[in-house]
Amino acid sequence: MPRKTAAYAAASPSSQLAPFLIDRRDPGPRDVVIDIAYCGVCHSDIHQARDEWGASMFPMVPGHEIVGRVSAVGAQVGKLKAGDLAGVGCLVDSCGKCDPCRRGLEQFCEQGAAATYNGTEMDRKTPTYGGYSSQIVVDERFALKVPASLDLAAAAPLLCAGITTYSPLRQWNTKKGDRVGVVGLGGLGHMAVKLAASMGAKVTVFSTNAAKAADARKLGADDFAVTRDPAMFKKLARKFDLIIDAVSAEHDYNQYLGLLRVQGAMVLVGAPSKPAPVAAFSLITGNRRLAGSAIGGIPETQEMLDYCGAHGIVSDIELIPIQRINEAYERMLRSDVRYRFVIDAKSLLQG
Ligand code: NAP
Ligand code: ZN
Ligand code: ZN
Repeated sequence: MPRKTAAYAAASPSSQLAPFLIDRRDPGPRDVVIDIAYCGVCHSDIHQARDEWGASMFPMVPGHEIVGRVSAVGAQVGKLKAGDLAGVGCLVDSCGKCDPCRRGLEQFCEQGAAATYNGTEMDRKTPTYGGYSSQIVVDERFALKVPASLDLAAAAPLLCAGITTYSPLRQWNTKKGDRVGVVGLGGLGHMAVKLAASMGAKVTVFSTNAAKAADARKLGADDFAVTRDPAMFKKLARKFDLIIDAVSAEHDYNQYLGLLRVQGAMVLVGAPSKPAPVAAFSLITGNRRLAGSAIGGIPETQEMLDYCGAHGIVSDIELIPIQRINEAYERMLRSDVRYRFVIDAKSLLQG
């Protein structure tokens, strides 16, 4: 018998999130049941709940920064046992056989990976529901081990904001002395600063908000630049090895490409809904590279969690009850969060 589980859902792109009951399946032999303790609030939750990327499925229970404790496991599960801490990020299944899956890049599964929410299981029928809920049942291959040394609520955002910024830093082999720019000091941006600084990079934050300068330094940045100042783009031209762009809204990429050194790269992780023009000369001049990066596969996500455990890296969070989720969305849209909202899942049981 599927179990009824308390959740919060959006019924349509224009509705507020509201209490909703979902069915979680009985655990199969390879399933892990996780009692959710905390779930981070990613800007992708807003993009999808408001159908800004298209093809959203409703009712939608968002949330893909999930941490909690295992309460039961199927007979064949070897990786986790009842009582262990566990996490779930943006994926809950994939075919496991195609080339990207074999390479540990399950997010690019050729069959289409099963997203944690706003998608379906691999049967392509059963809708998936995310972490704004009190429990989740997931194949053990997609359950991550969360280091016990980390504050659990503050570790939740590692499951998306952490891996999404760790992966490009690793792909571009970030090392001591590299100059890394981070555009947009939000949930992803502040994790990019902490992670890049921990790898020895000299980090500059590019922000629309001068009031974030002191925070940027506390997070590990060496420098801070206000992006509304055109003179700044001249002063910092040709200085950066890598720029991670974590901005959620439309903006001009060409300006930032001019900040790259010869052969430097700008990696887009922020995912605004509308396309933006890129001039050929922004790239031709200096053999500059413009790239994108999507979350990270399961092996790299575990590597990131272990790395954060070893280095004591977590998110700076504001803990909220689920009843304040709609207000949290509005505040995120005003960039009024320092730097990630995390839902205390206990509040789901209070209606
Ligand atoms: P967030 O916490 O809301 O942060 C976004 C930041 O972008 C804001 O703090 C703000 O920084 C900046 N910003 C917002 N509006 C802006 C505007 N009009 N012009 C310039 N800057 C603006 O969002 P998040 O959760 O970090 O997510 C950021 C983006 O990454 C979203 O689009 C999300 O969907 C995407 N994402 C992608 C992946 C992936 O796999 N690639 C994974 C997760 C999320 P300042 O106040 O410092 O200017
Ligand atoms: Zn996310
Ligand atoms: Zn696959």
